[in-house]
Order: sequence, then structure tokens, then C-alpha cells
Amino acid sequence: MSSPPGRRARLSSPGTGRSSSETREELRRRLLGLIEGNRVMIFSKSYCPHSTRVKELFSSLGVECHILELDQVDDGASVQEVLSEITNQRTVPNIFVNKVHVGGCEQTFQAHQSGVLEKLLQGDSAYDYDLIVIGGGSGGLACAQEAAVLGKKVMVLDFVVPSPQGTSWGLGGTCVNVGCIPKKLMHQAALLGQALIDSRKFGWEYNQQVKHNWETMTEAIQNHIGSLNWGYRLSLREKAVAYVNSYGEFVEHHKIKATNRKGQETCYTAAKFVIATGERPRYLGIQGDKEYCITSDDLFSLPYCPGKTLVVGASYVALECAGFLAGLGLDVTVMVRSILLRGFDQEMAEKVGSYMEQHGVKFLRKFVPVMVSLGDIWNSFYFLFTPSLVLLAIGRDSCTRKIGLEKIGVKINEKSGKIPVNDVEQTNVPYVYAIGDILEGKLELTPVAIQAGKLLARRLFGDLMPECDYVNVPTTVFTPLEYGCCGLSEEKAIEVHTKENLEVYHTLFWPLEWTVAGRDNNTCYAKIICNKFDNVLVGFHILGPNAGEVTQGFAAAMKCGLTKQLLDDTIGIHPTCGEVWKEKTFLKLTSVDVV
Ligand code: FAD
Ligand code: NAP
Repeated sequence: MSSPPGRRARLSSPGTGRSSSETREELRRRLLGLIEGNRVMIFSKSYCPHSTRVKELFSSLGVECHILELDQVDDGASVQEVLSEITNQRTVPNIFVNKVHVGGCEQTFQAHQSGVLEKLLQGDSAYDYDLIVIGGGSGGLACAQEAAVLGKKVMVLDFVVPSPQGTSWGLGGTCVNVGCIPKKLMHQAALLGQALIDSRKFGWEYNQQVKHNWETMTEAIQNHIGSLNWGYRLSLREKAVAYVNSYGEFVEHHKIKATNRKGQETCYTAAKFVIATGERPRYLGIQGDKEYCITSDDLFSLPYCPGKTLVVGASYVALECAGFLAGLGLDVTVMVRSILLRGFDQEMAEKVGSYMEQHGVKFLRKFVPVMVSLGDIWNSFYFLFTPSLVLLAIGRDSCTRKIGLEKIGVKINEKSGKIPVNDVEQTNVPYVYAIGDILEGKLELTPVAIQAGKLLARRLFGDLMPECDYVNVPTTVFTPLEYGCCGLSEEKAIEVHTKENLEVYHTLFWPLEWTVAGRDNNTCYAKIICNKFDNVLVGFHILGPNAGEVTQGFAAAMKCGLTKQLLDDTIGIHPTCGEVWKEKTFLKLTSVDVV
């Protein structure tokens, strides 16, 4: 067989001959250099018949190719591994045309038949956009804007399917519209109620009856959200990101169908896609749930005060909503199926619960609802509970099942609906990436989605940047007494490091602001878990006012390898809750047992 025209890539420096001393990062950079520096780059094996077919195709088109025969270089195996990290394709031939990853032999022939290959060879973009992001929430917007700043042609599709109660909202995703923002503002409204009570002890005198007006609060919060929605639209416009308020669904490779509110359909193509479709609240699947219950998607814009409320569920969303509703003076009961705050340190979780209980929230433990009828809810022991409102907070489902992923072969975890990705947020289909809440095994938090989105755009279109670090992500549960943490729970630390290798220090504390106000002593609590041998903190937990503010700084310190000794050596800020470690902390003698 005659050899097609093609320049063979040099095998020694600047080719591939420095394998032994060359770091993986250098190899990656060099491969990207080859991809970027050549109109057609083929990673091939000299004996592979598919590689030969592709070389012949380019030869018949009269196109010169740069070819690296992986079986003829010392570090062919490493090249193949790094290539598979870059493209998620392990096999040869692996073909790039004008920096666009075309794929293997079959995909190259398909591209030739559809005319895409010729467009790519002409240097024209074969696609309408460099990047289409599906989902304009925390992760999607961060990724789209960053890619646009790096000079790419970007489109964002964002569409809110109304909740079963008919609630819908604007651009920005869960966090802005029905998550962090309205939740924290309603938490603040509840804290202000407590501050009013405290204020009398500090000398404030007022005679008027103090009461809370739900409608005023909701209107003010929704107005603020409206301004954020507008700000996002403006910011996309300024960065020349095309925003389309339509539902996106893959119809074929590199092609998406966008359906707007009126049912009009338009198709768009892109070289790369990022899926950032987030999650929506789950329903119980029992009689009456969709008719008579609401979820967090409806709560923050509810046009009337909920009154006596039953919250079903016992994690973040359930306890935070129960907490602020009780703080606003409502009669609130939480129906708990098993434990509070699954996945969190259980000693802390129980303290969160007992504070809520002391402050008026009722807990119905080991119950699940079995039926809801107008105004009534029947639980697993068949007794009747009659709240004015039932709020379901039993978890969230990934929006991945109705977006045509099967049409292009993107794999999801069939059970959870989550998308598995590699360390660079790439799915099993090389040109499709995923970020945010829909990722398998990652934390569902706004800053995580934003960080992953930004770094992904920079890696795809800018200089090489580090991968998103999902370790030691701090978080705070905004319950009436806030709980901030970073690193491992005590249970998880024991599971990972074993009890013998750990030291746990803890203390109760009384914030200064609470003393004059006469608020609960021996309630706020802080705990650190350290490795006994190198003293490094593996877990940080604090239950007290402004726990989120306190935890953020400790998270940065933990990223730098904070040790107990360094903590002891750091001078505190007086008087604050963050200086609790400067007061007496005690070695915890009885650690929890792993169950
Ligand atoms: P989202 O922000 O959910 O965005 C996805 C977007 O894609 C949505 O606008 C959706 O409508 C759209 N979409 C879906 N399918 C399609 C489609 N096919 N076509 C077009 N558009 C589509 N996190 C924190 O860090 N701190 C908090 O205090 C906090 N509080 C929370 C409180 C509540 C009540 C809830 C529910 C969540 C909270 N979270 C919090 C979690 C946080 O909101 C999420 O982690 C974050 O919003 C995830 O971002 P995302 O980009 O993955 O998805
Ligand atoms: P979640 O963490 O998945 O918790 C679901 C809760 O519902 C659990 O308590 C679970 O009980 C219970 N539950 C599930 N099915 C049930 C059923 N059939 N009947 C009764 N109870 C049932 O969900 P979430 O609270 O909605 O939170 C989702 C994500 O949003 C979180 O992972 C978090 O990352 C994010 N979030 C973050 C914040 C924040 O940062 N402050 C706030 C809110 C949400 P079991 O324990 O028995 O399974």
C-alpha cells in the first residue's frame, strides 16, 4: 500500500523522545502544541487499518497531514493515555482538524459525508457556535461568560419548566431564583425577629405590636431577584453571549433543538457543549402530592403566608425552610424519615435539631407520608395531620432524562440520573462536558458549580488551568443556629483514618452578643478533628451565629494544610465567635462509633 502524503511528527524533541524525564503536564502541553500547530493532526499506529483508511482519505483530498505513529515512539503508551484524557478517546486513529477534535475513523468519514470535514479544512467553523451551554444557572452562566471573555462564540439556552403548581422564574437558575438567595434572605428575616427580641435587653423600647408581614417580605425579595435576573441578561449581552430562552434537547451529534415557550423549534450546532441543567425538587409519588403539596420552587414566591406548615424531609432544604418559617412565627413540624442532615457530622446535626426544637420547631421522627388529601396528610402510622401547607423537601432529581442524551450516546447513571465525568468534567462523548448539580459524586453547591464552570472554560479555550478541586469544600446550613463545616465529619474521619489516629478537640461557647440578651448558654459548639501524627485538621465544624462567615476563612487555612499547632499559634480577633479556638478547647475523650 502506498504511503499517503503526510509529514511524520518528529519522534525526538520537540517530538516525543524525552519521555522518561518529561512530566505528564509537559507531554500534555506538547500534544496540544501539535494539535494547535497543524491543520490536520493524526495520532495513528502504523499497522492499524483504520488509521490507514483515514490517511488515504486525506490523501485523496490532497490534504497534507501531520502524523504521529504511536507504535514507533518510546512513549506511545503515555501519549495514548494523555490523549485519552484530552479527548476521552483511547483508540487510534485520533484526528484533529484545525484544532477541532473530529474523533476516530468512523467519525471522520461521517464528517466527510456530511460536508463538515470540508468546512473544518477550509478553516471555517463547521458549527454555528464554538460552545453551547445548556442551562443558565450558577455553573452554566459562569462557564459561558468565561468562554466569551476568551473570545469564543457562545450561546446559552435557559428554560424553566413551570413547577406542578405553575411557578416559574427568570434567568440565573436555582440559586438566584429558588435557592440560596431567597433562602438566605428569608433566614435573615427570621434572624431580625430574634434581634427585635434581643433589642429590648439592650435598651430599645417600643410599644407597637411587632408582627411579620409575609407579603411585604416576599415582594421585596422577589424584586431583588428580578434585579439579579436583569443583571444576568445585561452581563450576557455585554459579553456578546447569545441568550436563548428555550428548552434545549440534543437531536444529533453537535446539534441541539431549542423549543421556546410558544413551541417554536430552532436548531443550533456547536463544536462543544456544556450541560449545566441542574436539578428540580422530587415529589413523593403518593396520592395527592402534586395537587396539595408545594416544594422550595414555590415557597419563596408564595403569595400568602403559609401558616401551619408540615415540612417533609430532614436535610439542608427541609431544615433551613423549617427554621426560617418558625423564626417568622409559624407553627412548623418537620417529618423525618430517618436522621437529620444525612452526610453531615451527626453530633452537629443533632445539635442543630435540638436548638430548633427548643425554639419551637416540632419533629415527627421515623414517619413518612403515605397520602395527602385536601388539607390533610396521612403518615405511615395512619394518623391524620392537618397543616395549612405541606412543603416537600425530600431531595432533587437531575434534569438529564429529557435532553436527548441518548441520541448522542452520553451516559448517565440510570438510577440517579447523574452524569459521570472524568477529572476535566468531560463526559464519555468527548465534545460534551457537564458541570454543577448534575455531576455524579460531586457536591451540589453554587460556588462549586461556578468554579467548575470557569475552570472548564479556561481549560477548553484559554491557557491550561488546574482542574476543579472538589476536596475540602466548605458549606453552611443556614438553620436558626447556623452550622458551618469543612472537611470530614467525625464519622467519616474515623472511617478514613481510624479512631486511633485522630484527636478531636471541642468546646461549647457563649457568643458575647448572647450574654446580655440572655440567650441560651452551652448551645453554640465548635469541634475540630485532627490527624494525631501530623496534627493536620481533617474536619472543622462550628455551630453558632454567622457560622458561614467564620467557616470561609478556616476553609482557606485548611487548603493550606492548617494544623492544630498553627491554630494555637494564630492570634484571635476579640471578641468574635471565630476566636473560639483561643479559648479553652478540650480533647474529646469519647469519640463516636461508626455505624
Ligand atoms: P441550576 O442553578 O439549577 O441551573 C440550571 C438551569 O438550567 C436552570 O435555570 C434550569 O431551568 C435550566 N435548564 C434545565 N434543563 C434545561 C434545558 N433542557 N434547556 C434549557 N435550560 C434548562 N447552594 C449553596 O452553595 N448555598 C446555599 O445556601 C444553597 N441554598 C439552596 C437552597 C435551596 C432551596 C436549593 C434548592 C438549593 C440551594 N443550593 C445552595 C444549591 C444551589 O442552588 C445549586 O447547587 C446550584 O444552583 C447548582 O447550579 P447549576 O448550574 O448546576 O444548576
Ligand atoms: P437531600 O440532601 O438529598 O435530602 C433529602 C432529604 O429528604 C433527606 O432527609 C431524606 O431522608 C428525605 N427523604 C427522601 N425521600 C423521602 C421520602 N420518600 N419520605 C420522607 N423523606 C424523604 O436534599 P435537599 O435537602 O433537597 O438538598 C439538595 C442539595 O441542595 C444538597 O445536597 C445541597 O448540596 C444543596 N443545598 C445546599 C444548601 C446550602 O448550601 N446551605 C441549602 C439547600 C440545599 P433520608 O436521610 O432518610 O434519606
